[in-house]
Amino acid sequence: MNRPVIFTSKKLARATIMAAVLNFLCIYNAPTEALAQADPFSAERNRMVENDLIARDISNPAVLKAMGKVRRHLFVDKSLWNEAHADYPLPIGDGQTISQPYIVALMTQSLKLKKEDKVLEVGTGSGYQAAVLAEIVQQVYSVEIVKTLAEKAQRLLPSLGYRNIKIKIGDGYRGWEEYAPFDAIIITCAVNHIPAPLVNQLREGGRIVLPLGDSSLFAQRLMRGTKKGGKIELQHITGVRFVPMVGESQKKTFGRE
Ligand code: SAH
Repeated sequence: MNRPVIFTSKKLARATIMAAVLNFLCIYNAPTEALAQADPFSAERNRMVENDLIARDISNPAVLKAMGKVRRHLFVDKSLWNEAHADYPLPIGDGQTISQPYIVALMTQSLKLKKEDKVLEVGTGSGYQAAVLAEIVQQVYSVEIVKTLAEKAQRLLPSLGYRNIKIKIGDGYRGWEEYAPFDAIIITCAVNHIPAPLVNQLREGGRIVLPLGDSSLFAQRLMRGTKKGGKIELQHITGVRFVPMVGESQKKTFGRE
């Protein structure tokens, strides 16, 4: 014999609680889904961090975390989104490129950054390297000579929530005197000598990373340096290909500044 369903107050209370729990789960899941839609490349980034960074020699936890977090695809044209995490450089307009993820990570790791550091970047480009730095340190200053690129990065970075990046349009050869000295300097275009103003603007004990060599050959040596007794002591890291630093840098030759 079927017993009629009678809602005792106990059952009713249980059903109400169940409904509330289900309701909560739906609400709770909504932002997660929205987030997955807003960040469709999170799996790609994880793959990039695993295969192209950890599997090589990138081990600094802050660098890995930053590379896993910054949405790299947003720094290239939409037509290149599917390639944004591939292990090669991509065009960003005006004949310039965004470095491959491994080189960005290697240069960042080589700077041996601390949270409280103030960093100068020469060559803002898309702003991607600046965003990676800004995830790690307190303040980033970046100089870009191509107005359209600088302005694009000046719009993009604050829209992604970065409040600790200042971008200036100008020749990075001269650095950014107003905010010197810097704890670290990263040059993301090739130079055949370290610009004297950058040496002066690096604090004693500060670190610098740059592609050094003949920029016309698009083949340089990635170098890491530390300022000791007012001079930069350089160490070779690996071979790289960067676009040349233009402007004042090209009027000067090695050893004559
Ligand atoms: N760091 C960038 C990529 C740099 S590509 C990124 O994450 O996307 C090199 C950049 O250096 C280019 O944007 C180029 O315009 C810039 N550049 C070249 N010469 C420069 C100079 N003298 N001062 C500042 N920027 C310069």
